[in-house]
Amino acid sequence: MKTLSLLILFFLTNITCRESTTVYICDSPNAKKYHNTSKCKGLSNCTYKIIKVDIEKAKKDGRTLCGWEK
Ligand SMILES: [Zn+2]
Repeated sequence: MKTLSLLILFFLTNITCRESTTVYICDSPNAKKYHNTSKCKGLSNCTYKIIKVDIEKAKKDGRTLCGWEK
């Protein structure tokens, strides 16, 4: 049982680490969302440049995770 919990913990930590790196945003003044992938549906309407930013910067700019994610 202990091994299983450790495995789950490791798995969860891994996900968290991956999420707290780089996200994609539409470089539009009206865009208030960030995306985990550049192929997200929410970005297909973007007529501006799609840029990669640190998730912390996206959050600081007041962006929230796009509704298409998950
Ligand atoms: Zn998205």
